[in-house]
Amino acid sequence: MHPVHAEWVTRITDGIMGTRITVEVWADEGVNADPAIDAVLDEMRHIDESMSTYKPTSEVSQVNAKAADAPVRISKELFDLLVTAKEYSVLTDGAFDITYASVGYMYDFRKRIRPSEAQIGKALPAVNYEHVLLDPKAQTVQFSQKGVRIDLGGIAKGYSVDRGIDVLKSFGFTRAYVSAGGDSRIIGDRFGKPWVVGIRDPRKGPDSVLLRVPLVNAAISTSGDYERYFDEDGVRYHHIIDPHTGHSASKVRSATVIGPYATRTDGLSKTAFVLGPEKAMEIYNRIDDIDAIIVKLDGTVVYSKGMQRAPPQQP
Ligand code: ADP
Ligand code: MG
Repeated sequence: MHPVHAEWVTRITDGIMGTRITVEVWADEGVNADPAIDAVLDEMRHIDESMSTYKPTSEVSQVNAKAADAPVRISKELFDLLVTAKEYSVLTDGAFDITYASVGYMYDFRKRIRPSEAQIGKALPAVNYEHVLLDPKAQTVQFSQKGVRIDLGGIAKGYSVDRGIDVLKSFGFTRAYVSAGGDSRIIGDRFGKPWVVGIRDPRKGPDSVLLRVPLVNAAISTSGDYERYFDEDGVRYHHIIDPHTGHSASKVRSATVIGPYATRTDGLSKTAFVLGPEKAMEIYNRIDDIDAIIVKLDGTVVYSKGMQRAPPQQP
């Protein structure tokens, strides 16, 4: 469909990477946005095919099956993302660690299944990003010991959002919004006005808004303990794992990170759960271009230094 008039075009798609994808672009008069949006979704399907651990044929599943035995040659795309993941591990004092999966694979939050202390203890030595050996020349990955597994669930959605934005840019769009679940990125503004992204109240329904954040040319990711969880005997087990203990990391209710790229904001939003609000804020304040909003366990909200200068709007 070729719009006669310039307009905002929005498409919402469920089922890629197990989440909801939203793409919104400003299409000038006579410009058809559909091929560009199709290309964004194709790119996201490709990332899902290559990086999902739910798909035994994915490149990541192949790595998990073979990399403890010998180096596995992988695509440039996966290699580069593994390098990035390791950088985030260093930045976050090990709070972000894709080898969390060495223990994490034993949790099933939908089925209320969690590993026993004995199972965690046995698998925990395999959790350490330093076990992931990357050889840039050969473009291979190898695990330094048996039992190591990786999972890119903490970074792949953000990465797919960045790739989606790249696709839209390559089609010439200059005002757009792409989101995959809790990870979003925006290019341009809404004609003199910012885009406004809502942060959910962690203890209210999915449509509740705790804060509204105005954004232009930025990415934003929120991690919450309400996304994938079950409660048992008053303890909440949810999908962010502390790499140091193998237990569900519950030191905050939600963490929102704002920055230039969604890969980065996605990766860094896990840190607060593992390290707690004080240590995480220290790290967030140390990283250039990053801002953060943390909802603590008592429900109070804390902001990084940059946000204290320009506080977000209350709804
Ligand atoms: P969503 O999956 O809804 O985007 P998050 O952005 O909060 O939610 O990411 C949570 C996911 O991150 C988990 O489902 C898991 O795949 C992954 N993960 C859990 N713990 C860690 C960790 N310590 N380091 C890196 N990734 C993690
Ligand atoms: Mg995410």
